[in-house]
Amino acid sequence: MLLVSEPVLGAEEKTALSEVIDSGWITMGPRVRAFEEAFAAAHGLPDCVAVNSCTAALHLILMAAGIGAGDEVLVPSLTFTATANSVLYVGATPVFVDIESLEVPVICAARAEELCTPRTRAAILVHYAGALVDRAAWRELAERRGLLLVEDSAHAVGVEGPGSVGDAVAFSFYGNKNMTTAEGGVVAVRDPVLLERVRLMRGHGMTSSTFARLNSRTPHYDVVLLGFNYRMDELRAAIGLVQLGRLPAWNATRRGLSRHYRERLAHSCPDVLVPFSGERACAHHIMPAVLPRNVDRDAVIDQLRNAGIQTTIHYPPVHRLSLYQERCASGLLPITDAFASRELTLPLHPKMTTADVEYVVEMLAAAIGNQTEMRKGTEAHNEFNPEPV
Ligand SMILES: *Cc1c(COP(=O)(O)O)cnc(C)c1O
Repeated sequence: MLLVSEPVLGAEEKTALSEVIDSGWITMGPRVRAFEEAFAAAHGLPDCVAVNSCTAALHLILMAAGIGAGDEVLVPSLTFTATANSVLYVGATPVFVDIESLEVPVICAARAEELCTPRTRAAILVHYAGALVDRAAWRELAERRGLLLVEDSAHAVGVEGPGSVGDAVAFSFYGNKNMTTAEGGVVAVRDPVLLERVRLMRGHGMTSSTFARLNSRTPHYDVVLLGFNYRMDELRAAIGLVQLGRLPAWNATRRGLSRHYRERLAHSCPDVLVPFSGERACAHHIMPAVLPRNVDRDAVIDQLRNAGIQTTIHYPPVHRLSLYQERCASGLLPITDAFASRELTLPLHPKMTTADVEYVVEMLAAAIGNQTEMRKGTEAHNEFNPEPV
């Protein structure tokens, strides 16, 4: 089965894990710090804090910034539920914003501004598919409205730009992301004072870690604010250090495969829209395609599965999920709804070849073509038997 995404893990990761086990120290320690330094350097960031997920990263950012009850936070609905969940964690209200267009499916700054109220404190921007949002438009809006800008950069790892758009950024190393630590994430914050608060909050708000106490003469510590256990461990950091080194080559492979997809789809599936056709910094995390309006997507998914190709949907819109239907009133998001009803995510990961891409496109063209043929058949039939629908 050709999977939508697949982690690349091998001998180097095994060796790195063995070294941690042999070292006798597996919880947060020197490798976590080394990973933070390497990750920050690779992304042109002054520093960062490693945590156990991107979800934790988002929670810590909002918490450290003092966002809470009574505050509103602008979020896209076209995202993973974790983006909006982080807003509920701190007791604030997510306000869903539509995407720019089917062609540019990222949270729209102009629509966001229309939804601003005196309670709006922050916006979480998602670099959908790894394509960066419009930095200038968002900085301008944030400054005019005094908003905290948070980047959910789960899709955009190993690319220049995240961290320069917002005041804070969260990355993910979940198993299906561009690099993985199985579970894991990173927080970077522009304000060094806020970053140190995040660092404290990662480990219960304690003034020293277990590892620091081992290496000092005092067993004493204080708790200075309410924190969490969002720590990363040495095993994950060791894998992360290996993966970080391999990330540039993987992202280059992703870029090449994406370009090949674009060419082949334009040729064989001219009615399929591929978002982000213009120049734009991108980590090519996923390969989204928008099917023609009248195509039965479930039938296409089924036919591709029979051909050994897994596909998925990014995303069921968050404002349509039961939890959010119950808890958050949302305005209409017609472009998000249209995009989400027609989007199909094709396989994209560094283990794939251009031949795989050609096979996927060929099978997709066949699946769409079959339906067109069948519809023609029915329409011809209906001409002779006009019946009210
Ligand atoms: C994967 C993902 C997350 C959550 O990341 P975890 O590390 O699994 O917590 C958040 N936002 C987006 C857009 C994601 O794709």
